[in-house]
Amino acid sequence: MKTTPRLHLEAELAAGRDIALAREQAHYLTTVLRLAAGDAVAVFNSRDGEWLCHLTEASRKGAALRCERQSAAVAPPPDIDYCFAPLKHARLDYVVQKATELGARRLRPVITQRTIAERVNLERMRANVSEAAEQCNLVFVPEVAEPRKLADMLSQWEPGRALVHCDETAAIADPLTALRAVTLPAAVLVGPEGGFTAAEKALLQSLPFVTPVSLGPRIMRADTAAIAVLTLMQAALGDWR
Ligand code: SAM
Repeated sequence: MKTTPRLHLEAELAAGRDIALAREQAHYLTTVLRLAAGDAVAVFNSRDGEWLCHLTEASRKGAALRCERQSAAVAPPPDIDYCFAPLKHARLDYVVQKATELGARRLRPVITQRTIAERVNLERMRANVSEAAEQCNLVFVPEVAEPRKLADMLSQWEPGRALVHCDETAAIADPLTALRAVTLPAAVLVGPEGGFTAAEKALLQSLPFVTPVSLGPRIMRADTAAIAVLTLMQAALGDWR
């Protein structure tokens, strides 16, 4: 069975609406996927849901779509934020894609004392989120927030949101049991490759909304820890139940 290609577009989606595609999107549909006028494309965003569209133009000059009908309503994943010290290049691309696939609702880069990524490329992160959402059938596109310093983020923490601190020095216990005691909305926090400093750990430990969780006896790389904790969160309190 031929699957309908999916495309994330921020344009307003409504019945009968014509959308001219940007050059990159036109290239993807017509040259990479070899679609022609009349072919179907599923277009979605976090505001209008997913719409069945057809290509009305597909030539070297460009491509355009017409929206027909809504095929799925917006479906945000569980209210779990992924807070993370940005990693370098390929690992950051990877972890941003995986967090999207695993159903993080928001991605929040956090600058910690040992963060080593020189510059946080939000545009690149958003492109990775968008591509992952297209591939994993999400009818939603997780937000990528502006980077914030750890202390600033914690001092203005949203009341009522739990924060799960992935802490490799916490006493080892069953993380699934620990996470079942947490309620949504929630966030997970994964540190940089060098870990959090003693001062950062002391700050985290002093806050009533923070739950430290150990992910077992091995020290994982930050991208592995992110995948592990998001998996456990979905199993314990998210949409894998
Ligand atoms: N500071 C550590 C060291 O140098 O030995 C390593 C930090 S680890 C590479 C990066 C982040 O992954 C940590 O800050 C933590 O948030 C998370 N992490 C890795 N292994 C973990 C574990 N076993 N339990 C909980 N969190 C873990």
